[in-house]
Amino acid sequence: MRVYRAAVMGSGGVGKSAVTIRFINGEYLEMYDPTNRRQFEVDGTPCLLEILDTAGIDQYLSLNDLFIRDSDGFILVFSLIQKETINEVRGVRESIRRIKNPVHAQTIPMVIIGRDKADLVDEREVAPQTAEALAIESGCPYFETSARDNIGILPAFAEIVRQIRQH
Ligand code: GDP
Ligand code: MG
Repeated sequence: MRVYRAAVMGSGGVGKSAVTIRFINGEYLEMYDPTNRRQFEVDGTPCLLEILDTAGIDQYLSLNDLFIRDSDGFILVFSLIQKETINEVRGVRESIRRIKNPVHAQTIPMVIIGRDKADLVDEREVAPQTAEALAIESGCPYFETSARDNIGILPAFAEIVRQIRQH
């Protein structure tokens, strides 16, 4: 079975660990449990996805460069209730493009996650159109998720595997 590696990146507190743990264990945890691989089927073909759940990019810049080199795909997370976390997604995206072959910047396997779709709807700061525009400028699919309510998580991780397969 082919092994794929994807990094989950974005600002501190946007929900990277919650998204990862929901995907890996099917659980929603307030505290992080660092189990980081899951075997699942994408389009009928089994695969093992190893998730590198990174810490805030601002704290460990050089480590992030290493993670980027080491990963096949990227799951960029921001919070729909904190609009400034979109800037970090842009920053991370540019780091990825700089470190991976820039000639193929548009084909780097990547998805963007806006978290807290359903469960914190009153606090939403980012309009759907703003998030869609971010996805279009990044040339990648966009998913709205809730790790708490288990919305959109599996489709986002399946899509990163699909993109890595096509890469
Ligand atoms: P990280 O720093 O990006 O890894 O963020 P965490 O995954 O640790 O999440 C930060 C905080 O947001 C934690 O208190 C989580 O419980 C909370 N959180 C994460 N995902 C969700 C979600 O989908 N819904 C809600 N309501 N809270 C969430
Ligand atoms: Mg975390």
